[in-house]
Amino acid sequence: MAQLDELYREVILDHYRNPRRRGSLTGDHLHADGNNPSCGDEFAIDVIVEDGVITDAAMQGQGCSISQASGSMMMDVIVGMSVADVADLTRKFKIMMTIEEGEDPVDPDRPGAALGDLEALQGVRKFPVRIKCADLAWATLEDALSQPVD
Ligand code: ZN
Repeated sequence: MAQLDELYREVILDHYRNPRRRGSLTGDHLHADGNNPSCGDEFAIDVIVEDGVITDAAMQGQGCSISQASGSMMMDVIVGMSVADVADLTRKFKIMMTIEEGEDPVDPDRPGAALGDLEALQGVRKFPVRIKCADLAWATLEDALSQPVD
């Protein structure tokens, strides 16, 4: 039960129950759909990039609490970030989700290193099948940002 407690830490449940930036954008924006067949999770994102900075974003999705909470946490932090910083954060998140327990995922002294609420998802590492759930939103965001902008 201790492991489950960690997996469903309060912050994860809060994001699952109150997803940030749920909805869709109008006007010109990038869009990508993602899904995780192993769990049945779906995630879609609308994002506006201006001068290399994400100025607005909205998400739609349904699925397990891990997939939706990870997406909500991601939406919470990406608006206002540059595409380069988002790529860096995505890399840190992936490292956090794959390292062995006990290793420090990021250097705390490095500026911008903190993952904030996202660190709550570290508990998911104990459930390898669920890592894909946590990764879904990030893969979908990468997909959206990889599209050519006119
Ligand atoms: Zn899932």
